[in-house]
Amino acid sequence: MKQVYLDYAATTPVKEEVVREMLPYYTEVYGNPSSLYSPGLEAKAGLDEARKRVADLIKADPKEIFFTSCGTEADNWVLEGVADSLKDKGKHIITSRIEHHAILHTCEYLEKHGYEVTYLDVDGDGFVSPEALEKAIRDDTILVSIMMVNNEVGTIEPIRELAAVAKARGVLFHTDAVQALGNIPIDVKDLGVDFLSMSAHKIYGPKGVGALYMRKGLRITNYMHGGAQESKRRAGTENVAGIVGFGKAAELAGQNLESHMADLRELRDYFWEKIRTNITGVQLNGSAEKRHPGNLNVSFDYIEGEAILLMLDAGGISVSTGSACSSKSLVPSHVLDALGVPITKMNGTVRFTIGDFTTKEDIDYVADVLTKVVERLRELSPVTGQEGW
Ligand SMILES: *Cc1c(COP(=O)(O)O)cnc(C)c1O
Repeated sequence: MKQVYLDYAATTPVKEEVVREMLPYYTEVYGNPSSLYSPGLEAKAGLDEARKRVADLIKADPKEIFFTSCGTEADNWVLEGVADSLKDKGKHIITSRIEHHAILHTCEYLEKHGYEVTYLDVDGDGFVSPEALEKAIRDDTILVSIMMVNNEVGTIEPIRELAAVAKARGVLFHTDAVQALGNIPIDVKDLGVDFLSMSAHKIYGPKGVGALYMRKGLRITNYMHGGAQESKRRAGTENVAGIVGFGKAAELAGQNLESHMADLRELRDYFWEKIRTNITGVQLNGSAEKRHPGNLNVSFDYIEGEAILLMLDAGGISVSTGSACSSKSLVPSHVLDALGVPITKMNGTVRFTIGDFTTKEDIDYVADVLTKVVERLRELSPVTGQEGW
């Protein structure tokens, strides 16, 4: 049976070139990068090259890149690190209602430990407003954390404007750029951010590797305590092969950014056009223009997203409903809820995310199966066509 993977926002396959570059670091260049003999220095050279490549992708200095075990660790580190470092200045943090759980759950943890968090609302497209941020900043605000691209609906936030508002008030600014990396251009200096989180497995690199960009001159409380790795800022023997893979994936992402964006956008628009013409009662969630090039988040009236997911899976197609992590909460998605999507539409929402290995044939196949699946589910639905479902 044909297999089509349309969940690139959840994770991506590792590219062959990336695996090839990683392999020798398991079996041949296995020295500890902290060791001073040649095999250790060789491993250290691999780390240095990867650091340069990741820095290049976001126009940073290699000295501003600190490798972590994942994007989640980078998010935890910056929130808890700034909270601890600046606790004498204040205990107020500002974020948005549509952040990834790596941010939201860390904020909840900090709230239990005496910090106060303001969760900014977003508009119907998912945008955080710079004016609302301005109003929320207080004398005791120590950090603003707003994601660059939303992982569910793909909306691209106005990070430059938001960071400028924070800077004008002397408040540090962090952005979770895990979904943005390799999918839209990033220039940390131009954006004016102080911290930025990244993850390798969303850009065709390995799982279990991330990084935090920390602007030169800044220093926050460490998250991992132990050895002197990562310029004494992140302890633990480095995942050398993984980091080398992250570096290669970053290099490829930088080289292919323009064509990658154009290809994804073309396929995505082609797919949306097919959905719109073949299926009635559909709604695109998130901004139509300022959007991740590979993201389509669609609500189908009268049916359950989970049912669509299962029936597509039976056809060899992998998609996601809302965020994988929110399946246990009462509202299917805190993001769609914040956008004001009514619960009835929210229930019938599917996220399709396209990537580098998606073909036009894949989209034709998925559009075809999807049309039949929606028709079938609506036939079974007791409320089809009823007002106010
Ligand atoms: C995937 C993701 C994360 C978490 O990254 P991991 O490396 O999987 O821990 C954080 N933020 C966003 C926006 C993500 O999409």
